[in-house]
Amino acid sequence: MKSVALIVQKYGGTSVADPERMRNVARHIATTQSQGNQLVIVVSAMGKATDNLLDLARQVSSAPTGREMDMLLTTGERISMSLLCMALQDLGVDAMSFTGSQVGIITDTVHGRAKILEIKGDRVREALSEGKVAVVAGFQGVSTAKEITTLGRGGSDTTAVALAAALKADVCEIYTDVTGVFTADPRIVPQARKLKHLEFDEMLEMAGAGSKVLALRSVEFARNHNVPIHVRSSFTWEQGTWVTGEVRKGEQNMEEPIISGVVHDASDAKITVLGVPDQPGVSAALFEPLASANVNVDMIVQNTSTAGTTDISFTLPKTDVANAQPIVERIAKQVGATGVTQDTNIAKISLVGAGMRSSPGIAAKMFRVLADNNVNIEMISTSTIRISVVVAAPMLEKAVRSLHTAFDLDSGEDYSAPLPVRK
Ligand code: ADP
Ligand code: ASP
Ligand code: MG
Repeated sequence: MKSVALIVQKYGGTSVADPERMRNVARHIATTQSQGNQLVIVVSAMGKATDNLLDLARQVSSAPTGREMDMLLTTGERISMSLLCMALQDLGVDAMSFTGSQVGIITDTVHGRAKILEIKGDRVREALSEGKVAVVAGFQGVSTAKEITTLGRGGSDTTAVALAAALKADVCEIYTDVTGVFTADPRIVPQARKLKHLEFDEMLEMAGAGSKVLALRSVEFARNHNVPIHVRSSFTWEQGTWVTGEVRKGEQNMEEPIISGVVHDASDAKITVLGVPDQPGVSAALFEPLASANVNVDMIVQNTSTAGTTDISFTLPKTDVANAQPIVERIAKQVGATGVTQDTNIAKISLVGAGMRSSPGIAAKMFRVLADNNVNIEMISTSTIRISVVVAAPMLEKAVRSLHTAFDLDSGEDYSAPLPVRK
């Protein structure tokens, strides 16, 4: 006899975008429960609800505070959780909704991108023991100062995996609008290949390089607590991609390529400080205050010094530019730099693959492919299993597609499942 499994299922925005999608999801939950499983459901805000709330905030205030922004944004997930419970109850499923705070998702006090410190989970355990389906609002928690917080964009993935870890669930299923994790975003590369299986480290690099399919922190939780993730579609319900500690027998990808994916990220901007005196302490003077202000600096490049001065460029999320710019201007003046420029029209393209460890020459090939396609490289950074470059944003599609082809990742057929338009 099959033993009872505890499954955490997370449904992203497109999966619950309208009443019909919501009822479809409810039917799938009802079926999974009727097969004898215990279920905890995590939901995102419907469709573009979070973007619309952000837009509303901007229309009433030029600088909304983090506290009020989080109060506002958490309402999106609250709408989804209650509607989904209603749809479930209609099918005769005993379901109960909970906010992050009710579940005891305790975070630090950083509004807008709080980190989960602890999950109490008592009310979820109680609901499960009463045979209920627990539906939890994603992307939110309550801080150690008792304020409502959000976990950063895409944070419902983190809620789901962190809950799965806390409850020791058998699997965390991430339902989205594509059929799994691909060798590139199928919206940009129709020839992208679905990966059957990825190791946590590879998925971490892909998420870290900016692939939106799983939020970075969710993969960190999965790796640290060994939670198997199954990324799959709520439109086709077919088998998707497993992300686990190690490749299971019989689940290897057909041919094991050196590169597992080409990742793009258009969410960063670049700031350059010009004519910085080339002397000890200047980088510390610049990056310490940025770190204190919670600015997420990614790539950093410093030119060779000519005539005692140098230029320092770094990338950061576009959403951090308003916060960072005045700090950079102030420090630039203090250290005697000649100016500060910013460029929001950039894209980062990364090659990721565990096989890179043992294959020299990948970077050289990447640069050759980009050169042959007339794509200029502005910045470069590497890790043991990733190479990233910054290029001008209009070059993004050409760069991703040409690299995908050059590294033999094209599947030979176009992505065939429907690609839902995001409303
Ligand atoms: P959700 O709202 O379900 O959380 P997301 O937008 O966060 O959905 O993530 C799913 C999207 O991620 C897909 O629609 C796809 O366009 C994009 N994506 C980017 N890179 C990949 C990849 N390598 N494999 C699959 N999807 C990807
Ligand atoms: N609704 C939030 C967002 O749009 C969280 C999520 O969907 O994961 O970022
Ligand atoms: Mg997401």
